[in-house]
Amino acid sequence: MPQFLSQQRCLFHLFITCLITWTIGGCMKAQKADLIVHNAVIHSMDDKLTIYEAMAIKDGKIIELGPQQQILNKYSAGHIIDAQSKTIYPGFTDAHIHLILGAKQRLQLDLSACTSLDHMLLTLEMYQQKHHKDIIVARGWNEQTWTDQRFPDNSQLNELFPDTPVCLFRHDEHTALVNQAMLEQFQINEQTDIEGGSIASFNGKPTGILTDNALDILREVIPQPSAVAIADKIIEIQNDLLQYGITNVHDAGIERSDIDMYQRLIDEGRLHLNIYAMLLANDSTIDFARKHGIYTHKNLSVRSFKLFADGALGSHGAWLKEPYFDRPTTSGLSTISSDKMQQIAKLCVEIGYQLNTHAIGDAAVKMTLDAYKIAQQTSADHRWRIEHAQVVDPQDISLFAQYGIIPSVQPTHALSDVQFAQLRLGDTRFATSYAYRSLLEATGMIVLGTDFPVEDYNPFATIHAACKRKNTKDAPKNGVLPQQAITLNDCLKGMTHWACVASFQEEHIGQLTNGMDATFAIFDRKINVPPTFQQNFALYTYIKGKKVYDATL
Ligand SMILES: [Zn+2]
Repeated sequence: MPQFLSQQRCLFHLFITCLITWTIGGCMKAQKADLIVHNAVIHSMDDKLTIYEAMAIKDGKIIELGPQQQILNKYSAGHIIDAQSKTIYPGFTDAHIHLILGAKQRLQLDLSACTSLDHMLLTLEMYQQKHHKDIIVARGWNEQTWTDQRFPDNSQLNELFPDTPVCLFRHDEHTALVNQAMLEQFQINEQTDIEGGSIASFNGKPTGILTDNALDILREVIPQPSAVAIADKIIEIQNDLLQYGITNVHDAGIERSDIDMYQRLIDEGRLHLNIYAMLLANDSTIDFARKHGIYTHKNLSVRSFKLFADGALGSHGAWLKEPYFDRPTTSGLSTISSDKMQQIAKLCVEIGYQLNTHAIGDAAVKMTLDAYKIAQQTSADHRWRIEHAQVVDPQDISLFAQYGIIPSVQPTHALSDVQFAQLRLGDTRFATSYAYRSLLEATGMIVLGTDFPVEDYNPFATIHAACKRKNTKDAPKNGVLPQQAITLNDCLKGMTHWACVASFQEEHIGQLTNGMDATFAIFDRKINVPPTFQQNFALYTYIKGKKVYDATL
């Protein structure tokens, strides 16, 4: 071909390209978006796990996802983000967290770093020398992290603080150690009538150990931090969550007054997280639920009750079908009567509320499943949940599927509990506990959380625990009951779409598809499950198209 012809062709080709670009650009780029994200790996978490390169966002919603060039050609926007091939997921959900309790805990003396009883006592002594409190309240001790792992009594505490009441909550918030001065000042003794709780004694003398519902007595009398201080700590925790790409939380147990606090923070424009709140069942919250029914206020949603069927395994409070292996005199205890549970279940059916029950031991799980049968007798879309579901009799797993019950679990618990779970349960029962894979296979859905402040809220610790069954230090070497590991995709679904199904929010959040809220995080590193723990953070986190976290600032 003569050279000039070739040049002419090239020019023509260029012209055509320009014309096409101009035509497409000219007529289609007129479509306005507020934000375009391109050059990204966008995990939509839809049913096919589709991955996109780009998305356009308008009025807080995703209006289109697709190949980069398509989105860039079609839309113009005031803000355009070149994500530089970074990974994007829907904002994560922590489906079981205690945000307000965590905020309060940050305002009280933290004992979680203590490595022995002596260390804890020294910490308390130094704290009191500085603060001169009328009542000392502290949280977070865990004898499993102490050198001798011996469960404490209050004898040394009484010597150190003979006159000042001291109240120390164990990290699981199901047990407290109090001194004699505390017991005397508030007239707490063995005769105090408590259903679903205990005040321990030895040789007729109280040991200072209170469990489960007995803690309500303490909570009523201890001084509370100011609402302003709690609110500030909630915002501080929010920022920590956003740096991990967590945009939605299910607060697993709030009071009536906490609803007001959340609303105030939202109206002040300070609280951006989607809050799905579970009400603790008492007269005041039941009044609220009867009056308001399913209640939403901007990013706050209230349509569920939280019950406790038992206590915690570490303190022998989880209610088991057979006695504890390391304490054959007890099987733990139920913290609610079956009648009361049925009564709340009926109320939930009546007003269209979800019921979410803490059940750790196999007897507690069974009682809850039995009470949940009532939901089956209605045509309602109930989506009731069992929180924790740590020790489930293998025979009862199929009942989750039969009654349509969603298991809501915290994979990091399996790692934190490993030191004592085998002792408490014995080998046979331990082998079938923390059975997240079996629960998932039976129900087709599992939702994941952390139980913060009992555990850290780091979602990457959750991923490692769920998929590798190891903690962030990569222990134990072969993982805890590794046959119960779940896949990364199932784990991520449990932190996104499934968690939003479990809170009736799947039409707005949990997936990145057309029409959904533009609530997502751009992560620093690709999310996968290497053999060793991989920390990760969000670079940017968006809620409804608005940037709420920026790691570069
Ligand atoms: Zn909890």
